[in-house]
Amino acid sequence: MSNPNASGWKPEMTPSEDGLHNGPATVTGNRALMLEEPLLFEIGQLDETGVDLPEPRSDAPNRLGGFDRTDAIGLPALKEGEAVRHYTRLSRQNYAIDLGLFPLGSCTMKHNPRLNEKVARMPGFADVHPLQPTSTVGGALEVINELAHWLIELTGMHGVAMSPKAGAHGELCGILCIRAAHEARGDAREVILVPESAHGTNPATAAFAGYKVENIPATAEGRVDLEALKARLGPDVAGVMITNPNTCGLFERDMKAISDAVHAAGGYVYCDGANFNAIVGKVRPGDLGVDAMHINLHKTFSTPHGGGGPGSGPVVLSEALSPFGPLPFTAKTADGVVHLVEEENAAEFAHTQAFGRMTAFHGQMGMFTRALTYILSHGADGLKQVAEDAVLNANYILRSLEDLLDAPFGASGPCMHEALFSDAGFEGGLSTLDLAKGLIDEGYHPMTVYFPLVVHGAMLVEPTETESRHSLDQFIAAFRNVAERAKAGDEALKQAPYYAPRRRLDETQAARKPVLAWSDAE
Ligand SMILES: *Cc1c(COP(=O)(O)O)cnc(C)c1O
Repeated sequence: MSNPNASGWKPEMTPSEDGLHNGPATVTGNRALMLEEPLLFEIGQLDETGVDLPEPRSDAPNRLGGFDRTDAIGLPALKEGEAVRHYTRLSRQNYAIDLGLFPLGSCTMKHNPRLNEKVARMPGFADVHPLQPTSTVGGALEVINELAHWLIELTGMHGVAMSPKAGAHGELCGILCIRAAHEARGDAREVILVPESAHGTNPATAAFAGYKVENIPATAEGRVDLEALKARLGPDVAGVMITNPNTCGLFERDMKAISDAVHAAGGYVYCDGANFNAIVGKVRPGDLGVDAMHINLHKTFSTPHGGGGPGSGPVVLSEALSPFGPLPFTAKTADGVVHLVEEENAAEFAHTQAFGRMTAFHGQMGMFTRALTYILSHGADGLKQVAEDAVLNANYILRSLEDLLDAPFGASGPCMHEALFSDAGFEGGLSTLDLAKGLIDEGYHPMTVYFPLVVHGAMLVEPTETESRHSLDQFIAAFRNVAERAKAGDEALKQAPYYAPRRRLDETQAARKPVLAWSDAE
């Protein structure tokens, strides 16, 4: 297949008032060192390969019961060198925490310390295989057990399921524990209450686990309405899912009262712990009556996100829910040996009510090594400072922008680890989306937009504790500049971004009519 330029495709010119970016179209579509990269489908060849595989044999013994490949796969491929370039070029069009401040609220995009990486790459950790005999992986089991111990200590809980592979997976694990606990006492219930401001994964999890989801309203100051919650509790309510600190960046001060009311009505309290970064070392959710809470190791404990991931979402459990936690898990006996508790030996460890398993194996070993490295290198005092600095940085942003931007809960007192703004007061039909696109031109990944849903045109900014004063000041200056343009109704902002590899995309069209390969576009 050909260079996309040959089929009439031309890179868009970037209009610019100073003329700096206006120039002749290039043959390659590249603009200096900003390299264009076509899709693999456009540049790949069906008969190309980067590795040498044996030719498929039509007379091959049918080992896989009819699934053996007998002819070509039909996927486009590249030679090794070209494959490396393809992905390296694409990676240069990506934004990453190693390039700059990544203010995605709720996501806690903090620096990934290189010490974590160094330890995770030690062959004894990096090369273990989940099917190795348990007797050969004592060190790995020690790491899992030690991390489990820290998570239990930091949260003041009773047990922990280490195997869930992300926050949402942890939510499912916690809700399945709640269901198992109700079923064990013959009290099947059908409703889970979720605040209006919840992350979309909360209602999705409850629905996936077979519950009906009902909303709890928020008060004018952005917290769960305790009285409305109490009024709804009853024998059909299995539990609540509450995020604390919540997605408006506020601490739920009534958390203990909420837990007491839910327990008195025979329900359980699930806490979405995605925002644990704001309170780690300061508040123990167990003391607030929480029964289950996931911890995103890729948020609070500095392991990489997204493409650099994978995620990991251990779930801490109260004494009431621990008996129902999934297999496998680690347990240390009096002789100091760490055991892996599986179906075969669950009875020896008095764990016979497990609801099942979340994963085939033990969880994200590479993330456990990184998270434990992070915890041990910070220590208890260092982790407390993480929370304090995260909150300090978010308040610095809140107070530096609230003269310019509407801060719906700015008057409720200091925020926790994230600052919430809205687009109230923007002129000329400009909105949150335009400000976000303008930030891209300033070289920043935008903040979280239109979430939480309880605030119209929400912008949720989470700087995290790993940003310096200098980096915060630069970000604030850029943010102020774009916000001033939005408030002045600057028409040009509607076309932003101007300087990104791609101009503004039609998101509706992209969702409704995705073009997944070049040939579809023709
Ligand atoms: C990130 C997040 C989740 C989901 O966690 P994943 O690890 O992305 O599955 C749930 N709730 C909140 C509030 C979050 O910020």
